[in-house]
Amino acid sequence: MKTSALDRFLRYVTFDTRSDEKSSTFPSTPGQLTLLRALTDELHALGIADAAMDAHGYVMATIPATRGMSGAPVIGFIAHVDTSPEMPGANVKPIVHTQYDGRDLVLPDDPTAILRVADDPALASRIGYDIVTASGLTLLGADDKAGVAEIMAAAEHLMTHREVPHGTVRIAFTPDEEVGHGADHFDVTRFGAVCAYTLDGGSAGELEYESFSADAITVTFKGFNTHPGYAKGKMVNAIKLAADFVARLPRERLSPETTDGYDGYLHPYQMEASVDRTSVKVLLRDFKTAGLKEKAALVERLAHETIANEPRATVECKVDESYRNMRVVLDRHPDVVELARTAIRRAGLEPIEKPIRGGTDGSRLSFMGLPTPNLFAGEHSFHSRLEWVSRYDMDKAVEVIVNLCRLWGERRPTAG
Ligand SMILES: [Zn+2]
Repeated sequence: MKTSALDRFLRYVTFDTRSDEKSSTFPSTPGQLTLLRALTDELHALGIADAAMDAHGYVMATIPATRGMSGAPVIGFIAHVDTSPEMPGANVKPIVHTQYDGRDLVLPDDPTAILRVADDPALASRIGYDIVTASGLTLLGADDKAGVAEIMAAAEHLMTHREVPHGTVRIAFTPDEEVGHGADHFDVTRFGAVCAYTLDGGSAGELEYESFSADAITVTFKGFNTHPGYAKGKMVNAIKLAADFVARLPRERLSPETTDGYDGYLHPYQMEASVDRTSVKVLLRDFKTAGLKEKAALVERLAHETIANEPRATVECKVDESYRNMRVVLDRHPDVVELARTAIRRAGLEPIEKPIRGGTDGSRLSFMGLPTPNLFAGEHSFHSRLEWVSRYDMDKAVEVIVNLCRLWGERRPTAG
């Protein structure tokens, strides 16, 4: 008996795998290990003998090549088990709305949580299909347990249909993507694939191979603190300098609130304030890495302008690299994206290609030597109580995975 991606998904979402950015352990929370262990057992049950979890919690496994296909390129599929720290992820109660009829869905545990077709064109396009929501108090966890379930269902399909020709297929389930550490301990050499696909995207057909390039800049103002009662002519308040600096940042452009598509931004997102010393952290985002340098230069200029009339203050700017646009790597491996397009078309879908205004584990993995674009998994309204997924998108994702395995199998060097 085959287990559908949806059946698997309904089980995986009951595991509390919320990650925690403040944790000092890896993975950041023990609940992730519970699911990762369960997945290892399920892979064994499918006959995937080498499935194992490493010391950091990463699960890797191999679907062996079919007869005569071991010369084909090794490819991989990756999904993350953790859910966003921004929303409760314990006691998730998934609800299957069979053949969804297009009505507003009032989630039972909180009547203010309502999915409305009028607000969500993607939902409107799934009328008539089975969809799954949470119950109103938690996220659903389709990001990225939909991806996990799809890879597991595809693995079962490939293990039970050995007549489908394919090369060696590697699988990885990873922790801590949502807190930006999913690639930290990913052993690219041990994974041993020429490329991989994360299943962590939206509606059926979506294919993502461009992400932001990202840095963060910390701007630290130093002032001078003294007793405020006797501060006349002496005190230099770093909080006021920082507030002045933030007010100088562009608003109508170069801001997350006022940009979309291919436009980058500067985004002040954290401040540590005292009279003596105040730091402002600013995210820098651009699809071109050169654009990051321009944005950093603008921030530095505004920071220095802020203290131009206050010789007693100083300011320091420090840039930290976050990740780079995966397209730089993927452009050198055009097959990786081209075969994904073909696999999507063979599933009867038109590829929907758009830039990711963020990063994925693939952004970092690509620069670690594993070119990794992102495929749709059916996630919608992720990181929210209104998160939902449809059976249709999940089944299509399984089909695309199987198609990719076949297509890469056809790339095996012919003997002679
Ligand atoms: Zn995700």
